[in-house]
Amino acid sequence: MRKPVVAGNWKMNKTVGEAVDLARELIAQIQPYVGVERVLCPPSVALTSVAPWLKDTGIGLGAQNMHWENSGPFTGEVSPPMLAGLCQYVILGHSERRQYFGETDEGVNKKVKAALAHGLTPIVCVGENLAENEAGKTAEVVTRQTRAAYENLSADDALKTIIAYEPVWAIGTGRAATPAGANAVIGLHIRGLISDLYSSSVADSIRVQYGGSVTAANAADLMAQPDIDGALVGGASLKPQEFAAIVKAAAA
Ligand code: PEP
Repeated sequence: MRKPVVAGNWKMNKTVGEAVDLARELIAQIQPYVGVERVLCPPSVALTSVAPWLKDTGIGLGAQNMHWENSGPFTGEVSPPMLAGLCQYVILGHSERRQYFGETDEGVNKKVKAALAHGLTPIVCVGENLAENEAGKTAEVVTRQTRAAYENLSADDALKTIIAYEPVWAIGTGRAATPAGANAVIGLHIRGLISDLYSSSVADSIRVQYGGSVTAANAADLMAQPDIDGALVGGASLKPQEFAAIVKAAAA
């Protein structure tokens, strides 16, 4: 049995003070749903302030990105040792990082390895953009990104990761993938590739979230799909009641 994971990606929203307030509201709303792994991913400057509020709640803390090097001349970046001990998860390869900050498949692979080396759980994002989707290239793009992210990773390490299938055209657009469509990409292409790379048992055990305009209204249908193990949530993760409804749907 795979335990679903629901992670809230706050993106570049909330000051430190606002982040603490939001975290406290979210904790109050989502704490009862212990059947689902819950993760809050505030902006990096708010991690140290949010962390104490999560202590002993069973709710995890995640960063939205990091560099693969431990230290050095990388102005503005955050390193794995800086995050280790502070949070437990890190989102890697988000499409906004790929689109606006030049993140490459190769860089994502380095980050995944660095995260694992520091005991952080990577949430590895993959997904096709609208043009790729319309050109019938979904399988090609998703398998290329996934294959690259897992290059030279052992099965044991792969099992410590979480994959988020996030079609770019669904992110922040209010146009989520259909539950059956998302399930098919995850089941056929992502688990199919993981099975080829490792084994069917790794493919059956690794957790794969769906992300892209998940809301309280569509969460139950998405979470009911057999290959979808929770959600990576953007916009709705800033709304405590909405996020709690998604967590509840994943726990059901
Ligand atoms: C995301 O940024 O990962 C995301 C899925 O955003 P939204 O839920 O707003 O579509």
